Order: sequence, then C-alpha cells, then structure tokens
Amino acid sequence: MIARGTLLALIFLALTLLQSTGQAQALQKTVRVKLTTLNFPLQISGGGISIRGIKKTDIKNISIPRVDESFRVDNHKVGGKNIWFINKGDSFPLKRLSEKYIEIDSSSSQVEISGYKVSTPVLITQAGEIIAAMPLNNYLEGVLAGEMPASWPIEALKAQAVAARSYTLFQINQRKNNIFQLEGSVLDQVYSSSISPDQLSVIKQALAETEGMVLTHQNKIIKAYYHSDCGGRTEDPERIWGGARSNINSVEDRYCAFNPHSQWIFEISLEEMRKKIESPIKSIRIVNTTPSGRAALIAFNVSDDKNILISGNELRKILGFQKLRSTLFSVRLDRDRITFAGRGFGHGSGLCQYGARYMAQKGAKVQEILKHYYPTARLLEVSHVANL
Ligand SMILES: [Zn+2]
Repeated sequence: MIARGTLLALIFLALTLLQSTGQAQALQKTVRVKLTTLNFPLQISGGGISIRGIKKTDIKNISIPRVDESFRVDNHKVGGKNIWFINKGDSFPLKRLSEKYIEIDSSSSQVEISGYKVSTPVLITQAGEIIAAMPLNNYLEGVLAGEMPASWPIEALKAQAVAARSYTLFQINQRKNNIFQLEGSVLDQVYSSSISPDQLSVIKQALAETEGMVLTHQNKIIKAYYHSDCGGRTEDPERIWGGARSNINSVEDRYCAFNPHSQWIFEISLEEMRKKIESPIKSIRIVNTTPSGRAALIAFNVSDDKNILISGNELRKILGFQKLRSTLFSVRLDRDRITFAGRGFGHGSGLCQYGARYMAQKGAKVQEILKHYYPTARLLEVSHVANL
C-alpha cells in the first residue's frame, strides 16, 4: 500500500507534469507571420529548395537540390482559376499547380525571394504575401527586437515580453484557420529579422525570465495591446476599434511625460488632404473626443450642408500611422495648410512603452509595470489558461 503522503506527492507530481506539458504545448506553437507582399513574377534562390502545394492530391513536390539554383514563380488567372507557374529554364520544365498557396523549404534554412531574404519554411499566397512560419519564441525574439530597444531597462523589456506573448497567443488562437495569423508590422506587432548578438542575449533574458507568463482575465488570455507613448492617459480599445467592452481599461499615466519626443506636429497641404478624401475642404473640426482626450470623430466640411466624418483611427490610417502619430491632437486650417499638433505615439491602449521604461528606470519590477497598465488582468502561467 502506498502511504498517503506518497500518494499525494504522486498526484502533485502528475498534476505538475500535466501543467508543464500544457505550457510546453502552448509555447511550442508555430506562428505564421506575414512579412511583406511582393509582386509576381518572383525570382527565388537558395540551397536545396523544395516546393510543396498544400492540397494533398495536388502535391507534386518539386526539389531543386543545388545550392546556387534560382527559379521563377508566377501566378495568374487561367480560365478563372489562379495557377502557379514554376519554371527554371530548359533543364527544369514548367510546372503548374492550382494551389491557394505554396510552401517553400530549404536545406540551408534560408531563401531569397526577389532579393528579400527570409528563413524557411515560407509560404507564398496568390496575392504575393510572404509568410514565415516559426516557433513562438523565435517570433517573440523578432517582436522584442522590433518593438523595444534592447538598451532599455530589463524590467521594461520583460513587461514587453509578457504583453507580446499574451497578444500573440490571443491572435494565433483567434486566427488559427487563417493562412497568416499576425502582420509583421504596426498592424499587429513589428517583427525584425535582423538582431545583433548583444541585442539577442538581452531579449533572450527578458523572454526566459518571464517564460510562460501571460496576462489573463478570468483565466482567459487577453489581447494585451501595447503602444509607444499614451501621452498621459491610456485608451479603452473599444473606443478605437469599436466592438464589445474589453478587459483593458483606460488608466492615467504620469510616467511617459518624460519622453522628450512626445510632442509632435504634422502638417499637410490642403491640396494633398483634398486628394486623400477626394473632396474640397472648407473647414475641419473635431466633433467629439474620448475621455482620454483623443479625437474620436473629425468632420471635414466640404460644402454648405455636407460634412465628411472620419474616425480618429481611420484618419491615422489615411494619413499614415507614422505621420499622424496618435489621435491625441488638435487641428488647425490656415489658408492652404492643415496642422495637427499632438502628443504621444500609437493607439494608446494597454502598456505604454515609454511609461514602462520610466517605471523600470525608477526601480519598478515587471509585475508592478503590468499591474499599472492592465489593472484588472492577472499574471498567470500559460498552463492555467482556458482559452488556448
Ligand atoms: Zn503613457
């Protein structure tokens, strides 16, 4: 007979093993990230390349074993159907595939697609989207490199690591049936494939010291938004993108006030703006603002009785997210020029990176930083999460 203590110890061990298996599974997920879009025809080169279609019945694997090989991939409509044309020249006869996308692998783990270097496996869609498939942690390394300078304090990088891991796991779960689950740009998270060895060692530390930690609400992982600089108060996500009430709340933020680049001015000529909204403009005004002071709706008066209404977020999209840096602005029209004067950078929801940096410089730990920006969220091991 097993002693009661031993039995309890065994049950505890079994539960721990189950948990760590769950965590290992979540952390070993593959992320499919859209890196860029290229125009056909594509010139592909690399070593030991193989091409696969995805429909099992249509697969005719094409292998190009030599290191210095290069071939052409084209895609266009034939009789209403998108067809792939894969061709190298006389020694490699033209192949046709009717796949939605093709997968390219390489024995050297890298190929060059029309001059764009990318790690394999890589997927190419009929629209020319270049999609890399990689393990979660490799993806997070690229996100940390793209989203926060490695020279920033380690506790800020750790807060960034937890937010990015949570956001990523939320998105790959939401979009598990999509060809790609994340955009490698500000539309989701900026992904950088070039990381210096010094940068990588700090990033690996930030990921390792928070390994498996995610932000949750009622045991469910949250879409942990983050941005560069909130300008003094963060924003409720639903006020930017609409939709149901989220688990992320607007909070006051004194910490990012120390960002020297917080204030900005963006000018555009009336003529240029007229082209953007395809209408003459008589005046501009902010119709209403959100509680954090952001422009929620902007009216472009185009004739005596007609206004074109554009949401703040839509206006950032039209003018460029890097130019109209946030929706926390005032706007002025002087003769032939429109001036936006604003504060902050990014959508303003969730973690404010400049605020996190300042908190970390003043000695705050990762838990404290996350508590400030996600006050209702609980930090949990991913094995305790229900919605994965
Ligand atoms: Zn802030």
